[in-house]
Amino acid sequence: MKPLVSLNWNAPRIRMKNKKIGIIGGGMMGLTLALRLAERGNRVTVLEAGPSLGGLASPWQLDDIVWDRFYHVISLSDLALRGILEEIGVADSIRWVETKAGFYSGGKFYSMSNAVEFLRFPPLSLIEKFRLGTTIFFGSKIRDGKRLESIPVETWLRKWSGQGTYEKIWRPLLKAKLGAAYERVSAFFIWAYIRRMYQARQSGLKKEMFGYVPGGYARIITAFEQRLRQLNVECRTSCAVQNIGKTGEHIEVTHANHDVETFDRVILTVPSPVIPKLCPELSTEELDGYRACEYLGVVCSSILLRRNLGPYYVTNITDEWVPLTGVINFSTILPPEEISGRFLVYLPKYVLASDDEAFAESDDAIRERLLGVLERMYPDFNRTDVVAFQTARARNVMALPTLNYSEQIPPAKTSIPGVFVVNSAQITKGVLNINETIEVALDALGCLLEE
Ligand SMILES: Cc1cc2nc3c(=O)[nH]c(=O)nc-3n(C[C@H](O)[C@H](O)[C@H](O)COP(=O)(O)OP(=O)(O)OC[C@H]3O[C@@H](n4cnc5c(N)ncnc54)[C@H](O)[C@@H]3O)c2cc1C
Repeated sequence: MKPLVSLNWNAPRIRMKNKKIGIIGGGMMGLTLALRLAERGNRVTVLEAGPSLGGLASPWQLDDIVWDRFYHVISLSDLALRGILEEIGVADSIRWVETKAGFYSGGKFYSMSNAVEFLRFPPLSLIEKFRLGTTIFFGSKIRDGKRLESIPVETWLRKWSGQGTYEKIWRPLLKAKLGAAYERVSAFFIWAYIRRMYQARQSGLKKEMFGYVPGGYARIITAFEQRLRQLNVECRTSCAVQNIGKTGEHIEVTHANHDVETFDRVILTVPSPVIPKLCPELSTEELDGYRACEYLGVVCSSILLRRNLGPYYVTNITDEWVPLTGVINFSTILPPEEISGRFLVYLPKYVLASDDEAFAESDDAIRERLLGVLERMYPDFNRTDVVAFQTARARNVMALPTLNYSEQIPPAKTSIPGVFVVNSAQITKGVLNINETIEVALDALGCLLEE
């Protein structure tokens, strides 16, 4: 069958084959690389530290349902991801759903899903709304955000949206998303964010559409693993790598249990801050580069409810007392019938990876604190409706797009011949998402396949 969507496969003609390749990390990046390298006749092994494949996209059990640990939706414009989903046989089952976006501002909820609602949005004056609208519209029309990398996000937003809109909308949103780190981030971040939101509105009516695969990423990862098995890729889970070094012609990989094995090539897909620990033989410049890459992490609670929490998929929050990046009502996408009649909600809070205190808070303390927040935000919310509450934490999620970020990324080819780094810190065309992750993997193939 002819592919529905074109694949961003732009590597040069096949040069390298029948090599023994080790891929460290079994997230979507590692699986995509494994697929393409195995298809080209290489013997690929994926080594994943976690108990299952999928990384940030892996599922977990919440009461009697299995769903993604972190919320994941597919955008209409995610062509690289949709191409992979087609290859592994799940693209036909994607369900596309029209969603609404809301704002929580001054203790009230506002729908912000179309132009009329936008014009009615009370927190802003007419002129402030006009300036916000033009910032979003013109921002979405900038095709290449590279030149915005040299401008602090605050400078750019104050210039285009004005002081009032910046103080009332942008600054609280930036703080909710990035904490105090927003001061170090470039305008590229907000451009990439606006663009992704805009791309979700590609349908003729300019309605926001997102997709999911019934069964969630659990189903996607299982289908991916099956396809890899057909290509004789070995995927090993609970297999943490401890050290990677060169011995003669080969690359030696030492596992946490001290087993040692050799490969012709090793590709690390792990977050940048982890790389110096795994690969101490890299040059000082490379090690410093990876250490300097500042990451955001996330503490994200999933709640199963007996009742719906409201009509918005994303509720953006401008009230600074709310300790959340947003409220993600996933049941506006995933019908309760598919998960035992429950309503699934995520409560994410992005924090700096170095914020030990945020990662140390116990599950019980988080539950108590956040249920109190929901009671204050949603007058109808009642904790007797909570069926399950579970908190997931990930320290290294997204590299902060600081000023001139793309110029500071070490290249995929390292100073150790045969050792490569291809990770999501190399995303320079958009915000972190699986489509961008896959595009980085596909773009790196040319370099990985060089003899
Ligand atoms: C809260 C949240 C919401 C998101 N929402 C969306 C969304 O709606 N849509 C979307 O497209 N994307 C979304 N994303 C982004 C998406 O999850 C990522 O883009 C993608 O999963 C990154 O894949 P990766 O393989 O690069 O990294 P990871 O998934 O982090 O994979 C890296 C892997 O390396 C493994 N590893 C680390 N150290 C070792 C070691 N020493 N030895 C062996 N293995 C090791 C880790 O266990 C991990 O599995 C979201 C992410 C989060 C956190």
